[in-house]
Amino acid sequence: MQILDGKLVAQAVKDSLKQKVDALKKEGKKAPHLAAILIGHNGASETYVASKVKTCEELGYQSTLIRFEDTVEEQVLLQQINELNADNNIHGILVQLPLPKQISEEKVINTIAAEKDVDGFHPSNMGKMIQGQPAYIPATPYGILLLLEHYKIETKGKHAVIIGRSNIVGRPISILLSQNTPTGNCTVTLCHSHTRNLKEICLQADLIVAALGKPEFLTADMVKDGAVVIDVGITRVEDKTKKKGYAIKGDVHYDTVAPKCSYITPVPGGVGAMTIAALMQNTYLAATKKQ
Ligand code: NAD
Repeated sequence: MQILDGKLVAQAVKDSLKQKVDALKKEGKKAPHLAAILIGHNGASETYVASKVKTCEELGYQSTLIRFEDTVEEQVLLQQINELNADNNIHGILVQLPLPKQISEEKVINTIAAEKDVDGFHPSNMGKMIQGQPAYIPATPYGILLLLEHYKIETKGKHAVIIGRSNIVGRPISILLSQNTPTGNCTVTLCHSHTRNLKEICLQADLIVAALGKPEFLTADMVKDGAVVIDVGITRVEDKTKKKGYAIKGDVHYDTVAPKCSYITPVPGGVGAMTIAALMQNTYLAATKKQ
């Protein structure tokens, strides 16, 4: 069993980006500039955004963090996005999800200019991605592909089973793995909360992507020997023995599943680390296209 070390690969991606940004600056060009909007005080969202801002600093990017209370009116938020769309100094915009109930996620995503949509959630980017055209690929699926590529994991002809069909993880990775690309050409089964016989389906998988948000859901009896297992899940589970009062759990029961796998991602230190690296890659792209 080999661990797919997201921290290591993410660092390699970030080192390469830092070099490129240093070169951009020497040429007198602008460093990539990411604007992040954070609404409310959700603990996980705070952590994700802080980590994105910190990574921008490490790479020499500019970042702007805009905060709203969770009572913010939809119109105010959309107005802020429009201002960022019109600002030539901003190359990438992200609005941290989830959003408070009074705000339509669809409206927010559709308002972000497609060329600044570094999360890759805008229908224009999603549509292009489905057709295999150049587009911003959502950061988590993109991070998974970078990981598969780094470890030269053969995907061609393999049966990939995805658990979870969200627009940000499950559905896009199901499409990307099915495409005629070096990290694609899988036969894909997309499973969700209404899937019957999930265990039987998983037992046929050469590659499993667990992205359902249920801690330690995927157990050893659902995984065939030699499978590649990618754990996307990040859930805070109460743990009084930890300083913060919680532990981070993936969707895979790591201790029992890992010995059966050819490759597996840990949580933390797997897909999560790659997601930020992929976001930085998209932001660099947005900045250089503009210049
Ligand atoms: P989501 O809640 O939007 O979607 C969950 C999906 O899982 C749904 O499509 C649902 O049909 C499916 N599902 C739920 N219960 C199921 C079951 N019993 N059997 C089969 N399918 C089931 O979740 P999401 O936003 O895609 O996130 C999934 C997990 O990944 C969460 O833990 C989230 O925190 C994590 N996540 C991690 C990263 C990262 O960077 N590592 C990024 C995004 C999300």
